[in-house]
Amino acid sequence: MSAEATAVMQAPAHAAPAQDHQPLVRAEGLAKTFDVSPPWLNRVLERKPRQLLRAVDDATFSIEKGQTLALVGESGCGKSTVARLLVGLYEPTRGHFYFGGQDAHAGFKGKNGHHLRRSVQMIFQDPYASLNPRWKVADIIAEPLHEHGMAKSDAEARERVGELLQSVGLSPADMAKYPHQFSGGQRQRISIARALATAPEFLVCDEPTSALDVSVQAQVLNIMKNLQRERGLTYLFISHNLAVVRHVSDQVGVMYLGRIVELAPKHQLFAQPQHPYTRMLLDAIPKMHDTGRARTPVQGEVPNPLNPPSGCTFHPRCPHANARCKAERPALLHLRGVQVACHAVEEGRI
Ligand code: SF4
Repeated sequence: MSAEATAVMQAPAHAAPAQDHQPLVRAEGLAKTFDVSPPWLNRVLERKPRQLLRAVDDATFSIEKGQTLALVGESGCGKSTVARLLVGLYEPTRGHFYFGGQDAHAGFKGKNGHHLRRSVQMIFQDPYASLNPRWKVADIIAEPLHEHGMAKSDAEARERVGELLQSVGLSPADMAKYPHQFSGGQRQRISIARALATAPEFLVCDEPTSALDVSVQAQVLNIMKNLQRERGLTYLFISHNLAVVRHVSDQVGVMYLGRIVELAPKHQLFAQPQHPYTRMLLDAIPKMHDTGRARTPVQGEVPNPLNPPSGCTFHPRCPHANARCKAERPALLHLRGVQVACHAVEEGRI
């Protein structure tokens, strides 16, 4: 038997499709649909059909090791659902998430699932809600160490907690305090220290600074960037704020009603946005050197995701919509050096 044939036979059952280069994180056609129907009896009595919410539809992207992909979009666009899919809090309805070339959703359930959970951690939006108020910081940060058997004794756990607190700019003495004794920015640093306890490779950050004052957002973002540089971390960064995204990302995916409508390197997206929705979001950012100019607010409302518009779901808000847009959903295509889902870009109308 040839060496090549042997290699094929020995490939793990849940390996990603063979590619020359495997990114650390790869989502392929990831989809999540929630059944939000009323109870069966109500549906029968009121003659209502089942209601399905397509929170994420066909999300495909890669993140190279040590890089940051930011997903942006208005509230309800599905970006937080992507985050929860990638940490195994949700099962995908369709599609795959590969981590280091292996099918992560099969991996989360498998006998070595704890290894994967150690490698993939999440930082939540609200540092007030995500830290147990009755626990001291030492116990909060040491919990994952004990859970994953990464500290042989309490003394070793305390030493690690002290190091982790220092790595996020806090003092080892802070481990004796309770969360309420810290400011919002400091609490988010504690959340970051907790997420780092298991020495993860991939951090999923769901709006990690949006609950913080603007003045402390930059401090927390700088800590995250420094940690990324020092430890080679890979980030998926969820945000509704393009100004924050500009600060932290390498690539940006713009989501609208569950779909990625534009995926581009950061500099390209900010310099030459292609999709009309991306342009609309960028127009709404305050410009430092343009104070006299009226900003264009984001136009219109996000439609009801339970009853999305036909064709391109952005068409009711789009100044370039035509009959094709109302009838046919645009595919995410490689156009003008980026990936974009828009008939007008494909046809060269904009
Ligand atoms: Fe606008 Fe049509 Fe492009 Fe959708 S496909 S963003 S409606 S131009």
